[in-house]
This record gives sequence, structure tokens and C-alpha cells, in this order.
Amino acid sequence: MTARLDRLIATRIRQDVQGMHAYAIQDSRGMVKLDAMENPHRLPPALQRELGERLASVALNRYPGERIEDLKQALAKHAKLPAGFGLMLGNGSDELISLLAMACDVPGATILAPVPGFVMYGMSAQLQGLKFAGVDLTPDFELDEKAMLDAIALHQPAIVYLAYPNNPTANLWNDGTIEKIVEAAPGLVVIDEAYQPFASRSYLDRVTRHEHVLLMRTLSKFGLAGVRIGYMMGPERLIHEVDKVRPPYNISVLNAEAALFALEHEDVFAAQAADLKKERSRLQSALEEMGLKSWPSDANMILVRVPDPAASFEGMKARKVLVKNVSRMHPLLAGCLRLTVGTPDENTQMLSALQSTL
Ligand code: PMP
Repeated sequence: MTARLDRLIATRIRQDVQGMHAYAIQDSRGMVKLDAMENPHRLPPALQRELGERLASVALNRYPGERIEDLKQALAKHAKLPAGFGLMLGNGSDELISLLAMACDVPGATILAPVPGFVMYGMSAQLQGLKFAGVDLTPDFELDEKAMLDAIALHQPAIVYLAYPNNPTANLWNDGTIEKIVEAAPGLVVIDEAYQPFASRSYLDRVTRHEHVLLMRTLSKFGLAGVRIGYMMGPERLIHEVDKVRPPYNISVLNAEAALFALEHEDVFAAQAADLKKERSRLQSALEEMGLKSWPSDANMILVRVPDPAASFEGMKARKVLVKNVSRMHPLLAGCLRLTVGTPDENTQMLSALQSTL
């Protein structure tokens, strides 16, 4: 049997897939989990009980139907969907990124994004057999305007992704540079606002100026990473086309109900985001006092440079604090760790664990 399986895999599974690594999720049991930009706060116990009752009454025997439409409407209200715009749902924005690659897979298509950036943009291109053009940021993690415009002229990309703020650098881009990129782009431009709950600016006010710009958001950083709801807004006709490649019933009825419940209590999540922003400032000051270089953040993460990232990562892990070592992701990130902002106690624990490794 093994020989048959070997042959089967060698001949029937795509060679590039055989060479890939599966998306690795670190085991975080018993750890202070500050590696994935999750909101560390859970729902207050009274709301947990209320949600439990709501979920118990969901018709699990039926395929997802009207409640998905209800969720789309609630999100449209929550996000202030502009007139003439449509909204589509993904199982996390990860799925929307995959669906966009599928919809834009015309011969020779390229996806372009600044790097270091969110890995799924490149991965969706690879899996769909599209080309990926990564354009280096400047050493201080700003968009390199000339390099971006030259790369757009050269590659004529089907999609340009701008994460706003960016992951893992946590910064927003210069608005003038964004406009030049949007004007130069011959295909779609996707502004990915996954970290919008923590950002000081949004592209929403400007998005209706252009017919080729889509705005992507997620409930993950809002506080529902486990619920897997991403959404994308854009001109109705464009959303209508992209939505055709979405698998039917991609949103579970339980996820939809939980998201609807959360949106009814959005003030609770807004208060959590406000707490996290305060903690972000405290962390930034503490890192500075420790003599470490960190960068301004408009997200719930902080990029920090340490003398020995592997030693700090392992040392923190030994002290039960899990962060992300991004130092090998891209040469510009040499020496860098990415810290998710946690609760005050978690952050205090993280800082002392980090200090002990320096
Ligand atoms: N966009 C960016 C910039 C991200 O950093 C992430 C996740 N870390 C996502 C999208 C995906 O989010 P989700 O699939 O949880 O909605």
C-alpha cells in the first residue's frame, strides 16, 4: 500500500503543493498567547449564557439561509456600507483572499503586494497558479512609492493588496502614496482593513471615489477570531461577479448567529478595543524603556527588534509566553519579534519574560 500511496502522491498531487508547508499553528496550551493578534477578552459571562441560548435555538438541520442575509445587513450597518456598494461574506478574510485569486485567474495574471506583508496574498497566488510580485518596503517599513509604481507598470497586476494597517509592521500607509497606487493600478485594488478596530484612519471615506477598489474587513480582530467571518465591500456589480466563485453555504449558521449576537453588543467589543489601545501605548513605552526599537502601531500588535530573536522567542516560550518570531520572514524584519497586545496581566508577564531574555 505504501508504494501505491507514494506513487499516488508523487503523480497526482501538484508538485508545488508537495513542496509546501501546511499553515503551522503553534501549540498554545497553558501559554500566554500573544502570537496571532487575537482579542484576549472573552464575552462577559452573562452574555456567554445568553449567546448559549441563542445558539441552542439555531436550526442545525437546515442549510444556512435567511440568517446569512441578516448578518450581511447587520455588517452593512456596522461598517456603514456606502450606497451602491455590495457586501460578500467569507469564512474569514482568508477565504475572501482565495476567492479573489480564483475570480481573477485570467491567463498571466499577477497579484502584487508590498512585502513584508500578510502571507496569504502570496499563498493565494501560488495555489491558484498566478504570479506573485512582492515589492519591498523601505527599511522604515513605508511603501516605496517609486518601486510600487514601477512594479505596477511592469506587472500590470490583476490585484494589488494594501493591508491598511499592514501585518506584521502594524503601520498605516501614506495616503498620497495610496492614491497614486490606486490611480496607477490597471486591475483591482484591495484595501485590507483587518485591523480597523485599532486604527486611527480608514479608507472607507475614500473608497467610493474609485470603481476598482474593494475594502476587506474581518470580525477576527474585533473579537471573534474563532467565528471566522470576513467581509468584502465594493461596487455592487464587482462584488456580484466575485461572489459567483464563493462555495454555497460557506458561512455556518452557528457562526452567523454568534456574529449577529456580537454585533448587537458591539459596544462591549468597542470598549475592549479601547482597552487594548491603552495597553498598546503602555507596551510601547515599556519597550522604549528597555532600550528596544519598536515601531508605531495602528493595530493590536507591535513589531520590536531584539538583539537575538531566536533566543528571546525560546526564552519567552520557556516562560510560557508565546509570541511570533518574524525575523526570518523577510530580510527587512531581521531581529524582529511581533507581539500581540494582550490583557494588562498578560502584557506584564510578556514584558518580564522578554526582559529576562535580553
Ligand atoms: N488580513 C490581514 C492583514 C491579516 O493579518 C489577517 C490575519 N492575521 C487576515 C487578513 C485574515 O483574517 P481572518 O481570516 O481571520 O479574517
